[in-house]
Amino acid sequence: MKIVLASNNRGKLAELQAMFAPLGVELVSQGELFEGEAPEPHCTFVENALSKARFAAERTGLPAIADDAGMCVDHFGGLPGVDTAYYCTQFGYEKSDANNVRALLEQLQGVENRRAAMVSTLVGVRSARDPEPLIAVGRVQALIAAEPRGGNGFGFDPVLYLPELGQTFAEMAPALKHAHSHRGRATQQMLALVRERWMQA
Ligand code: IMP
Repeated sequence: MKIVLASNNRGKLAELQAMFAPLGVELVSQGELFEGEAPEPHCTFVENALSKARFAAERTGLPAIADDAGMCVDHFGGLPGVDTAYYCTQFGYEKSDANNVRALLEQLQGVENRRAAMVSTLVGVRSARDPEPLIAVGRVQALIAAEPRGGNGFGFDPVLYLPELGQTFAEMAPALKHAHSHRGRATQQMLALVRERWMQA
């Protein structure tokens, strides 16, 4: 079985290919099959992931899986959500992981409620008009640390502190992070769904 991954992110493709390997499924990046990006005009992760998966299925005629991820901060009523990657630009900073962390710490200065969730939503469709998309949501509840700690990972990892482990994601070895991360959890669910719904018994 061949499935298109509706993303051009090499890191995500490598991670997902490794996790899908036991199913005997071939995951192909959409960039190998066509040019162009799906529109992501929506304000929820699931709508944007569905838009990306449908677009890839339509362009290739193959089943497609897409993901949309971001951070939902309690104090901001769940935002920045789908705009997480561009968070710092609303405060005049250039888009980068370091500036995102800096802007977040500035905006939470003096704020007592430090709760934030990282959310990863994966959507799979067998065709562009599939009436029953597979939807897997992985979520991890963290506290935003007062200052960055650790050198591993990427994005907001240095300030995503997991109280039950006493570490930020950036202080964890990759395997420990994946066992607890939003993306690891969403991927495990999606694997089980693909096996149950799309594979022959
Ligand atoms: P993406 O769409 O998965 O690439 O991520 C959207 C935003 O969330 C980007 O700013 C990423 O840096 C951030 N992000 C996604 N996953 C993680 C993670 O595992 N740790 C920290 N930040 C992340």
